[in-house]
Amino acid sequence: MQKLIVGNWKMNGLSAQMDDIAAIAACAAKYTNVDSGLCLPATLIQTATAANTGFAIGGQDCHYANSGAHTGCISAVMLADAGAKMVIVGHSERRADEGESDTDIRRKALAALGARLSVIICVGETETQRDAGQAEAAVIAQIDASLPELADITHDAAISVAYEPVWAIGTGRIPSSQDVAQMHAAIRARLAARFGAAGQMMRILYGGSMNGDNAAELLGIPHVGGGLIGGASLTAAKFEPILAAASAA
Ligand code: PEP
Repeated sequence: MQKLIVGNWKMNGLSAQMDDIAAIAACAAKYTNVDSGLCLPATLIQTATAANTGFAIGGQDCHYANSGAHTGCISAVMLADAGAKMVIVGHSERRADEGESDTDIRRKALAALGARLSVIICVGETETQRDAGQAEAAVIAQIDASLPELADITHDAAISVAYEPVWAIGTGRIPSSQDVAQMHAAIRARLAARFGAAGQMMRILYGGSMNGDNAAELLGIPHVGGGLIGGASLTAAKFEPILAAASAA
């Protein structure tokens, strides 16, 4: 299966950055054996999709309801209406900042799939959990509780899991290749046990300080199906080496 490389712009990006998005889309078009996209602030999605047809634009979160009295929130249906093709749910910054639970995340994932968006469900241990030898247990517990049942999914849904150690996000630190390999193998085994053949096919992305210098090694690890990229997705100059590494992996 092709690697999936997705940028997460977080709370960055004004309309003045449309040129950067266009440059990234143009660069992504060169790597036809890589699936790629950018998850943008909601304010940029509609303009970005209109200006960059053929390049996948996504959101960074969605509400579990399609509409209603939820001031300030954005639904998956709204994202799809704006042209988004995918959405991230359960990013550790939302789990920490907004107190999102695994149950919230499972409901959001279901809403996203109902709106026919691909969904990237994030999991990852804290540094304290890793130091206590609890990394795998913490991640598997998140997998178990955050992913919807396939029976609840009513179309040929694309679910990806992003393994993002919380302590590696935005810090420049990454786990050893052995630790990434061990965690991705554990996630694969759990997905396969729960979902059978579908669980073998779900891409498991690595996220946390991936950049042009470490992408080739990370993307070469068994069961690493791509990357979720924060800081290094903000410009084409930083994003392209990751796409190139994915293309060669
Ligand atoms: C992220 O926010 O999902 C992420 C991986 O960020 P960074 O690449 O900046 O560590």
